[in-house]
Amino acid sequence: MSNRSLNLDDTLYGYMLAHSLHEHPEQIALREATRSHPHAGMQISPEQGQFMALLVKLLGARRTLEIGVFTGYSALSVALALPDDGRILACDISDEYTRVGRPYWERAGVAHKIDLRLAPALQTLDAELAAGAAGRYDFAFIDADKTGYAAYYERCLQLLRQGGLIAIDNVLWDGAVAQPARDDDTRALQALNERLHGDERIDLSMLPVGDGLTLARKR
Ligand code: SAM
Ligand code: CA
Repeated sequence: MSNRSLNLDDTLYGYMLAHSLHEHPEQIALREATRSHPHAGMQISPEQGQFMALLVKLLGARRTLEIGVFTGYSALSVALALPDDGRILACDISDEYTRVGRPYWERAGVAHKIDLRLAPALQTLDAELAAGAAGRYDFAFIDADKTGYAAYYERCLQLLRQGGLIAIDNVLWDGAVAQPARDDDTRALQALNERLHGDERIDLSMLPVGDGLTLARKR
């Protein structure tokens, strides 16, 4: 699986990056550090990170959620776009993965914006709801276990304010969603795509960015 935007050849992809990317030096360094990781393909692409940073700025977001941190590139991208008092409630179960990113968050001066919770994301989101945080978040990025997406989406929708935005990653799943499903991840993504298409609580857009990125704005 590749994280890079679908259907661009090397020349055009290189051109796009050369004419748009503005990465912080610590974003470049973190991508470099993750390149040799056995699961490096899980990291979002730099153009997607920059796109999400733009969304966060357009929303004027202060409180955000991230479900699936890995080595921390998406969290770093969003954190750099947030105001100094902005926060990411960042959910992951892996200390091994997330510990890679923390020094880069520190050196970029955004570690204080990232509240990393090492626990199953559903547990963290349910605790937020129980603590009365419904309607208090501006933006959420869902990029963890695919069979958990439907539950994360419902929790995030409750946690978002009206006009808040959920970005859901890998919704095209390298093309597999358009074929008969052979595994649970594909089935879960197909079911979620179907469900969001009929969900009247949101304004919807599915973009061929990265491995497919759905944007759902809470009405
Ligand atoms: N957004 C990250 C980036 O840009 O580098 C990539 C995230 S990676 C695709 C998925 C992450 O979800 C992994 O780090 C994994 O540990 C985490 N994960 C898997 N199951 C989880 C769960 N139940 N709760 C929270 N995180 C989970
Ligand atoms: Ca992903």
